[in-house]
Parts: sequence; structure tokens; C-alpha cells
Amino acid sequence: MADDGDRAQRINEQLQADALATHRRKQLTAGDSRLECIDCEEPIPQARRIASPGCKRCIDCQTLHENWRPC
Ligand SMILES: [Zn+2]
Repeated sequence: MADDGDRAQRINEQLQADALATHRRKQLTAGDSRLECIDCEEPIPQARRIASPGCKRCIDCQTLHENWRPC
């Protein structure tokens, strides 16, 4: 019985951690910065999102767009 309780507790903690991670991911996606490039949908490195808040493109696509529109 104690084992079942421990297992349930562990599963519960895992579910909460997953929900929190999903929540944070949605917050990031809904915010100024996106997790994926809006052009090629490749993941944008976190370092780039931190360095350029509000960035919506990966470095490759941004380079193409910088000729006519800054990030
Ligand atoms: Zn891209």
C-alpha cells in the first residue's frame, strides 16, 4: 500500500511538472518571442530569443528578412 501511495505521488508530481512545462511553453509561444521560426518553423535557440526579445524568425530567415525589415 505504501508503494502504491509513493507511485501515485510520483505520478502526480510528474503530471504537475508536465502541466507546468506546457503552461510555460504556451506562455512563451503567446508572448513576444516564439519557440519556432514563423517562416521555416525550425526551433529558435533560447539564446537567440533571450538576445533578441520579440524575435519571430530563426537566424537564417532573419538574415533574409533583415534586408527589408528589422526584427
Ligand atoms: Zn526560419
